Amino acid sequence: MSGCIFCAIAAGEADADVVAEGDSWVAFRDLDPAAPSHVLIVPRRHVTSVDDLGVDDVGMAGELMLACREVATRERLKDGYRVLTNVGSDGGQAVHHLHIHVLGGRPMEWPPG
Ligand code: 5GP
Ligand code: ZN
Repeated sequence: MSGCIFCAIAAGEADADVVAEGDSWVAFRDLDPAAPSHVLIVPRRHVTSVDDLGVDDVGMAGELMLACREVATRERLKDGYRVLTNVGSDGGQAVHHLHIHVLGGRPMEWPPG
């Protein structure tokens, strides 16, 4: 989608520190990391959020979940990690292209703010 920074990163048209990629997704380091390891996984196709997923996206959504595990392995998060995605304004979503945060390298707190 034109004007979408994560579409541009996924297309290789904007700079990012890419850590892994698959046919349907790209994983890159968050610009403002909230943990020692903070990676965002985005689908190559523009989808606004989980709220925008349809039945045709089931395969892609599953690949995003497996991508989390691949990123955690590459980042050596052997003691655990957090997988989360923010949806809409109450969910705290700032970038309106679906992205999954993979956070690790320190103990996570619960509940989140
Ligand atoms: P959200 O609040 O939408 O779930 O999270 C958006 C995340 O994207 C934030 O953690 C923010 O630091 C990150 N981010 C925003 N713009 C960029 C960018 O241009 N490049 C990278 N690598 N991360 C970004
Ligand atoms: Zn996009």
